[in-house]
Amino acid sequence: MTAERHEEIRRMLSACLDGELTQGEEQRVRVHLEGCAECRQAYEELARLQQMTRSLHFASPPEDRMKELEKSLMVQAPRRLGWLFVLGGLAAWLIYAAVTYVRHWRPPSAEELIASAVGIGFVMLLASVIAERVRQLPHDRYRRIEK
Ligand SMILES: [Zn+2]
Repeated sequence: MTAERHEEIRRMLSACLDGELTQGEEQRVRVHLEGCAECRQAYEELARLQQMTRSLHFASPPEDRMKELEKSLMVQAPRRLGWLFVLGGLAAWLIYAAVTYVRHWRPPSAEELIASAVGIGFVMLLASVIAERVRQLPHDRYRRIEK
């Protein structure tokens, strides 16, 4: 066997591993590998390398998971900040109202009673919405991984 023949076979090895050779070419590579330990070793090394690259590829996070992470950073951060402002503002308002109420206590008027009822109702609705969202959080996370 000449050196050129080895060269030619080795050039075809990776195509052979990828299954890109014609039946005739593949036959030629197999016959040569059977009779040539040197090329067989090169083939086995190449196969091992390719398998390693493939498992490395599977180990790295899929692209859509990266996109999901990006999206959650861009969407969730402002949303959380929004909730923080709403809750913070609401808490400040409640404290202010409580302090004002204690300082200037007098029998509440009908308007004030109605305003209080509306305010308390709003707070309860908001609290229920928050409770609902917190309850759904693990499900959201689970669904995200599933995709
Ligand atoms: Zn050879």
